[in-house]
Amino acid sequence: ERIISSQSVPDDTKLDTSLRPRSLDDFIGQAKIKDNLAVTMMAARARKEALDHVLLYGPPGLGKTTLAYIIAHGMEVNIRITSGPAIERPGDLAAILTGLQPHDVLFIDEIHRLGRTVEEILYPAMEDFALDIVIGKGPGAKSLRLKLPPFTLIGATTRYAMLSSPLRDRFGSIYRLDFYTDADIEAILRRSAEILGVQADQAGLREIACRARGTPRVANRLLKRVRDYAQVRGRGVIDCGIAQTALGRLEIDAVGLDNIDHQLLRAIIEKFSGGPVGLETLAAAISEDTDTIMDIYEPYLMQLGFLERTPRGRVATRRAYEHLGLKYPKSRLA
Ligand code: ADP
Repeated sequence: ERIISSQSVPDDTKLDTSLRPRSLDDFIGQAKIKDNLAVTMMAARARKEALDHVLLYGPPGLGKTTLAYIIAHGMEVNIRITSGPAIERPGDLAAILTGLQPHDVLFIDEIHRLGRTVEEILYPAMEDFALDIVIGKGPGAKSLRLKLPPFTLIGATTRYAMLSSPLRDRFGSIYRLDFYTDADIEAILRRSAEILGVQADQAGLREIACRARGTPRVANRLLKRVRDYAQVRGRGVIDCGIAQTALGRLEIDAVGLDNIDHQLLRAIIEKFSGGPVGLETLAAAISEDTDTIMDIYEPYLMQLGFLERTPRGRVATRRAYEHLGLKYPKSRLA
């Protein structure tokens, strides 16, 4: 299990729940999204309407689920949580939709993984709050339209490009979550440390922040591990030295990269002369699947400017060579 994976693992569930901000005020960073959401939520409440459908996209662990909870809480409605792969048949979705109360939030994680027939149920549901059902088969079949309560769909995805355009078009607002700045992550860590009752000084938190890949979920997970180390090997206080040693033992480097990131970059550089190399070929070379590479590794490596996606494949940049302590070949200095 990768300690720096931004994907949720079962062990995170408790941590995620206890540290999850409950209101927009507690939600750190992503200022533009917060501003816009606050306005649309206030307007919808004043009109006594359901909030317009919201699409949230961006790498895992940045707060999409958290925002969905905050929206439901702020609108004072229930939230129903499900995911694209969990809704197998149109009937599954129909059952969920007919069970909603007026203005409820339906959160669909990994919405890009909805099947075609399921997605088609969603169009009239989102647009007209209607459910079209077909009764019978063949020439005698009849179509019935059921009214649904007005509701808010919140979709989350790591792959905006994989969403069909009819689906995208039906969202009233679309927000992209970006990686957090180190300062924001530090503030998130400070809040988490307080909730967990962990003592930490600023230098200690900063040390964790700069290796957390701009991702709150990773930051909280690292905090937990460093806390354990501080308890066993230190005086229970997280300072710079404790954080450095603990993170070093977890084999996370100064910018938050672990062995697998290193393997990936080294593969491009050493096996494919720096690239470009196709995603499939690269995935095979490091025995990872292409989805994991696209969703987890690449966004952060690109954010650091270590990797580029080009039409001909993945390329390791000069910065990547330098970070790994390798000489950038003269032949590439075109
Ligand atoms: P996603 O749905 O994008 O994968 P989550 O919403 O589950 O991510 O966020 C993971 C965890 O990170 C949350 O449980 C929460 O503790 C923390 N978190 C995310 N965003 C923030 C934020 N802006 N401020 C504070 N904590 C956050």
